[in-house]
Amino acid sequence: MVSKEDIKKILDGYDKKNLSIATVCSHSSLQIFNGARKEGFRTIGIAIKERAKFYDAFPLGRPDEFIIVESYDEIFDLTDRLIEENAIIVPHGSFVEYLGASRFKELPLPTFGNRRVLEWESDREKEREWLEKHAGIKMPKKIDDPRNIDRPVLVKYYGAKGGRGFFIAKNYAEFKMGIDWNKKYSIQEYVLGTRYYLHFFYSPIKEDGYKVSKGTIEMLSIDRRDESNIDEIYKLGAQEELKKMGIFPSFVVTGNVPVVLRESLLPKAFDIAERVVESSIKLFGGMIGAFCLESIVTDELEFNVFEISSRIVAGTNPFISGSPYADLIEPGLSTGQRIAREIRMAAEQDRLDEIIS
Ligand code: ATP
Repeated sequence: MVSKEDIKKILDGYDKKNLSIATVCSHSSLQIFNGARKEGFRTIGIAIKERAKFYDAFPLGRPDEFIIVESYDEIFDLTDRLIEENAIIVPHGSFVEYLGASRFKELPLPTFGNRRVLEWESDREKEREWLEKHAGIKMPKKIDDPRNIDRPVLVKYYGAKGGRGFFIAKNYAEFKMGIDWNKKYSIQEYVLGTRYYLHFFYSPIKEDGYKVSKGTIEMLSIDRRDESNIDEIYKLGAQEELKKMGIFPSFVVTGNVPVVLRESLLPKAFDIAERVVESSIKLFGGMIGAFCLESIVTDELEFNVFEISSRIVAGTNPFISGSPYADLIEPGLSTGQRIAREIRMAAEQDRLDEIIS
């Protein structure tokens, strides 16, 4: 991984009054550019050719400058140019996915957040160790041997972004029917309940708000994902019948819907977020900035967290002009703007190295 010292050296050379914010044109980039613009930053969009045109449709989400590339890996050839522009990279899910976690860790550019989180987040075993063992959070039960499937389970392939190829099985026979033996997989209890994707922001430098040992946590919004085809498959009748026709439930994300939690669940949600943040501080110096806890609430009103995403998620996109939660912090605040605000506050206090890696 690129060292903190190397990044610090680059940052030391930056004109802190003239920073720009750069990201890859995809995922939540409209929101990131819009938020950066609101905080007075210049913005740079790294785009594959055809992508740039689409931004003309949204002038307030369009970056000030495009850098057009053939492939995202070219960003490694652009470092001098980006450094000249005092650019801070704001990563999002697709950014990390396009480069791959290991390439992303090597990117020699000042990047918002703590890259050390990837070590814990991008490996399902380590993610479980962090959340279950260190943070004490309830996760869906893991089943090691498919022959022991004694309840509905979800079979997840490693690196299958957006749930592609995941399938449900209720016994070993169904598992065998669906499994692709060439892929690495894990088996999880299928938790029956309602899904909530909780969007938080951890700041090590903001002092007022929901306090943790260092800094504060904010809840900015909550969404639920639209997933095809699972969300609509019930309209065709029993899944068992459909399977005979070769139609299996899938979990490909196609969009996001805003939701709110019943208010009595909010303290529990904060408690979970706090434990995740505190354990991250102990394990790797803190998961800084936006993060999302992907959870299912059962009818016992218990949260099960099945995944963590430690950067801005696309589920924050319905909230470009605020949310029922963000509006209680500051009307109209988006996660994109909150990220830019953190960078601005840190620059003003000469504390950029605490939020950049
Ligand atoms: P991403 O990285 O984009 O979040 P992913 O490929 O890692 O996606 P998950 O987020 O783990 O996949 O799961 C995809 C979907 O499967 C979830 O959004 C949810 O609908 C469903 N799901 C995941 N785990 C469980 C579970 N244990 N019980 C019930 N449903 C689940």
